[in-house]
Amino acid sequence: MPSTQTTTPPPNLRVGIIGAGPAGLGAAIEFAKLPFVDVRVYEQARELREVGAGISIQHNTWRMLDVFGVYENIDQRDLFRPADGHAVQHRNGRTGELVLSKGQEGTPERYLSARALRSVLQKALLKGVDKSKLRLSSRLVEITDLPSGAFFLRFEDGLTDEVDLLVGADGVRSVVRQFIYPDHQLKYIGTTAYRALADADDILSIPGFPDSVTFWHGPNDRFYTCNLNNNVYEIAARVPQTPDTAPVSWGQDASVEEFRWRYKDFSPMLQSVLGKIKEVKKFALFAGPRLSRVVSHGSIALIGDASHPLSGAFGAGAGFALEDVYVLTRAVKWAHDRGLPIGEGLELFDRVRAPHYADMYTILDGYGKSDVAVKETASFDEAVSLIVADKWNDDHQWLYHYNVEEVWRKAYEAEDARRAKGDGSVAHGDVASSRL
Ligand SMILES: Cc1cc2nc3c(=O)[nH]c(=O)nc-3n(C[C@H](O)[C@H](O)[C@H](O)COP(=O)(O)OP(=O)(O)OC[C@H]3O[C@@H](n4cnc5c(N)ncnc54)[C@H](O)[C@@H]3O)c2cc1C
Repeated sequence: MPSTQTTTPPPNLRVGIIGAGPAGLGAAIEFAKLPFVDVRVYEQARELREVGAGISIQHNTWRMLDVFGVYENIDQRDLFRPADGHAVQHRNGRTGELVLSKGQEGTPERYLSARALRSVLQKALLKGVDKSKLRLSSRLVEITDLPSGAFFLRFEDGLTDEVDLLVGADGVRSVVRQFIYPDHQLKYIGTTAYRALADADDILSIPGFPDSVTFWHGPNDRFYTCNLNNNVYEIAARVPQTPDTAPVSWGQDASVEEFRWRYKDFSPMLQSVLGKIKEVKKFALFAGPRLSRVVSHGSIALIGDASHPLSGAFGAGAGFALEDVYVLTRAVKWAHDRGLPIGEGLELFDRVRAPHYADMYTILDGYGKSDVAVKETASFDEAVSLIVADKWNDDHQWLYHYNVEEVWRKAYEAEDARRAKGDGSVAHGDVASSRL
């Protein structure tokens, strides 16, 4: 009897992912689901470990973790969610007064915002990755485009590989981006992130201290406090430096004094909090010119911080990276299923993600303007009110509830319709409207 089984053709698209941060791990998971793809991930680190303490996992990030099938890899006991369900609170650093408490109305319980150690997210993603596809200690040092259209990759340890689709998930210092844009230069943005840790037991023993997710504001400086569970409390800040400050390398130890002197006008309760700090690390933040396109050569795509380093703005860069992965993998499949060159899928990926990031940059540009207004305000309390009203209003909350699946569906349907009509114009219409 003849067999009714059809055999799946062997994978014929070699995808090389550079970097195993949230973007690279997410891409490894999603590309591995495509039967025509042969994926491998190269990471320069000898072992995967996360520095930098806490991370927020917001509604949009949870959705992606669910779609990728790794949501259940996170043990809920490793998450901190405030008892009253707020997403974040803003308080006056001098008086402790609550200025604004943001709720999460309408967010499904499963997707309520949470804080965790960065390693919690990393482990959840890593668990979903086929380890035989992940090669550590592999620092990409050279890319050559071959006449065939493929890329020849050379790694520091002498390993070489050839891939058809190159995915730059190699973070803010991306070598893949440098290959596409040799003149692109990173610059210290003049701000350093400080991440301090204390024992939660010590912090929660301070009378009157709220166990919430809180920004404590002053006119010039603010810090953030949050429980990370497992007896870890995080105290974090982004601190503008003076022009003569030399940028420090990523994750360098700092002294508690260097961190806390800025908050000398804050309340005695907050002085006690700062007094409980056990260690502080600092991270100089870098950015480069915004990229007009994040695809190139018909077969290179940049995702995550390699494409749009936001220097921690919005506290959701890992979530944005996972959204990039979602659209990129669907766009590659879209092109493959229609017998189109993969480059056509990459173009669609770029058209879907570019307006979204452009919207984020518009918000960031607005922040710069409100900084000017604050400088002209006299009192501590007035300045705090102005800052909270200007920077922490609801204007950008949609970012955390962004429905990338819906945006992608509309984009490819519009593109399919355009092609069916034989229309030569690019289907921008539905894509540009990214706020769903
Ligand atoms: C201070 C701060 C706070 C933040 N807070 C949050 C938050 O609360 N929530 C959130 O979602 N996001 C947050 N972010 C953003 C988030 O950390 C980043 O957006 C996210 O890590 C980007 O992921 P990525 O995979 O693109 O890059 P990365 O995490 O930087 O990973 C890149 C990987 O590529 C590897 N690599 C680099 N070069 C090479 C090479 N040549 N060869 C091989 N491998 C290479 C690196 O070793 C690294 O593992 C924050 C960022 C900062 C700076």
